[in-house]
Amino acid sequence: MHNFNAAKPGSRVGEWAPYSYNIGTGCSNGCKYCYARDIAVKTKTITDSSQWTTERVNPKKATINEKVDGRVMFPTMHDITPQNLQTYMATLRNILKAGNRVLIVSKPRLFCIQSICDAFTGDKDKILFRFTIGSQDERVCKFWEPNAPPPQERIAALRHAFEAGYQTSVSAEPMLEGFREAVALYGALESIITETIWFGKMDDIDDRVDMAEPVNENAAQFIREFQSDANIRLLHDHLKDLPKVRWKMSLRRVVGI
Ligand code: SF4
Repeated sequence: MHNFNAAKPGSRVGEWAPYSYNIGTGCSNGCKYCYARDIAVKTKTITDSSQWTTERVNPKKATINEKVDGRVMFPTMHDITPQNLQTYMATLRNILKAGNRVLIVSKPRLFCIQSICDAFTGDKDKILFRFTIGSQDERVCKFWEPNAPPPQERIAALRHAFEAGYQTSVSAEPMLEGFREAVALYGALESIITETIWFGKMDDIDDRVDMAEPVNENAAQFIREFQSDANIRLLHDHLKDLPKVRWKMSLRRVVGI
């Protein structure tokens, strides 16, 4: 018997949905700032962070049969990859069959999103996609998110879902560059977003990123400067009146909203 996880109000998940669900742990994307890897180590799901990039899928979790009030964010502790796509889609089918609404969060692989869009045409009103795109620069994404799809593929997936008639949104958390690039990102994506685009800082860099690697420390210093309080206020000033723009907690704290 499996159940959804209730999100703590004000938590990372709770900002977006009152419930969440996962079919496994581990994520081959290997993002240097990964929050889920930290949680997995703290909860002893894995013994050390080097195990994180091995995906472990539990097919039994596909049998979920629960109805909740409010959206279910699925997944939160892994991504949707060719290795877990079959189990992911079987699980999504059961979640929707019970009458739930789902927030699908991913650094999307085009093939996976095409497969989901093709298979769930009858549930478009219950599915909201949210794709993480922190930069349009392939080199920058490759550094911070080494095994995730390049931004061009994520944008193609966003366009595909939009053109297929699904509800679409974007997470620019963490932003991987500064305020000018964030404003440009908004301009590039606004027309294929039906719902919202969320901006957030790269939080807790010193705790999450391996600073023993000098190259990481150098890159982190760029992020600290790009995302200084002054630059975050500039970003807020530029975008604050636009109807699709939303601010994550990490950014709200800086601008006092
Ligand atoms: S996509 Fe998410 S869960 Fe996967 S490594 Fe990156 S931050 Fe972690």
